[in-house]
Amino acid sequence: MPPAHVPRVAVGGWLHETHTFATPSTTLAMFQVQCAVAGDAMLTQLGGSAAGIGGMIDGGRARGWSLHGTMYAAAMPGGMVTADARRIIHDTLLTHLAAAMPLDGVLLALHGAAVAEDSQHPEYDLLVRVRGIVGADVPVVVEFDMHGNISPDIVAACDLLVAYDTNPHDDAYDRGLECAALLERLMARQIRPTMAYAAPPLVLAPQATGTADLPLRAVHDAVARLERDPAVLAISVFAGFAYADTPWTGPSIVVCTDGQPELARQLAGQLGALLLDHAAAAPIAQLAPAAAVRQALMRPAGPVILVDSADNIGGGTPGDGTDALRAMLEAGVERGVIVLADPTAVMRCREAGLGARVTLTVGGAVDRWHGDPLPVTGVVCFLGDGRFVCERRDHHFASLYGAEVVMGPTARLRVQGVEVVLTTLKTPPMDLAQLRSVGIVPEEQQMIVVKSAVAYRTAYLPIATAVIEMDTAGLCSANLRRFPYRHARRLLSADDGPAPA
Ligand SMILES: [Zn+2]
Repeated sequence: MPPAHVPRVAVGGWLHETHTFATPSTTLAMFQVQCAVAGDAMLTQLGGSAAGIGGMIDGGRARGWSLHGTMYAAAMPGGMVTADARRIIHDTLLTHLAAAMPLDGVLLALHGAAVAEDSQHPEYDLLVRVRGIVGADVPVVVEFDMHGNISPDIVAACDLLVAYDTNPHDDAYDRGLECAALLERLMARQIRPTMAYAAPPLVLAPQATGTADLPLRAVHDAVARLERDPAVLAISVFAGFAYADTPWTGPSIVVCTDGQPELARQLAGQLGALLLDHAAAAPIAQLAPAAAVRQALMRPAGPVILVDSADNIGGGTPGDGTDALRAMLEAGVERGVIVLADPTAVMRCREAGLGARVTLTVGGAVDRWHGDPLPVTGVVCFLGDGRFVCERRDHHFASLYGAEVVMGPTARLRVQGVEVVLTTLKTPPMDLAQLRSVGIVPEEQQMIVVKSAVAYRTAYLPIATAVIEMDTAGLCSANLRRFPYRHARRLLSADDGPAPA
């Protein structure tokens, strides 16, 4: 008997959620500071990690495949990806892919809402070039973030695609494993996937994309029932990312069946309609910052989580919005906490030294969207290098960037009763170790501001006594009318589309 053929499988990908209205652009250096690794070094570095790519690598290893690392990169959400960064990431990935030929299969982890300065649809461009190298017969299975803005072209360019089912994204690894399991069946020709796509005519603000809430909860409940049918291979529910202004921006449903195109079309249409119905019934309730702080002060026990979702770092904002801090200081809050990304203020605190009393302005520095810089006087209570190890590994933060997070040089300034944590790099509130690392006990606070829409929940809901959504200024405002859209057809054509900027 001849020895069994060991499947040769390439893995790789890149993740960026692009806020096309945000500045600055996202450069190659920004990927390098978070995660950028090429070739087989990828396998050692990311195998076993909580990332989707980690699930793919572990799934391949468990099956004894011969794995070939190509390129993997991830950067914090932000402005347009520079042409250089896109070109270098793609070229590196494709060079390693070509060198690994002949291949039996390809596994890729992509975001789905990346936009580059030289390409409105870079992930589609990449998939076309991957196909050009591997040919029509080698299956390509792709995992996407459920915030991906998926186009019909993207669907046509993969053999099979799978989105995260959760937001906060706690299942990226498991979906990576699922991709490997599906690829195994594809390579063995046990399944013949056929995919259908539906895009309901709406755009969801990120505040409305938590999977524990409507509208997405209703769709996922239905999906859980439908996926019991063995003819249904995978159903992906995409919330879309409202601030990547492209013609395909918005939610979508992708249904993959085993050789039953009519069933796929029917289910995609049904689920799209279900999403539309529930979106209309689930408005976002937000309070002005001053009112939110007053409500938090009425709670006997903290911490109350004040959600500053318009300055949602995970959505690409600078993380230096000042509305919430101003409201806390004006209300004389004791035991309040806010984290602001402000490298200049960190430098001022370092120059002044530990224990010094300083007067400076904080926040509002990157653009005109996030409130004015705020003059404050406070005492420097902590100085450090801003590194911390996540307490939780089951969330997207660890999955994207590894277990250690780097905020860069960091200071804690006590201003009246509010701890203002000043970081050099913007850092989303995904893990309580972030606050503990600068000497704050989160459980003992009266109120904590989180610059996030949904991702904070995994870490902060277990300690929260209440959650209050604020209507602050910022590039991730739930009020999509604030943005000068040019391409998002589903928003521009809707009755409640944006007013002129
Ligand atoms: Zn996401």
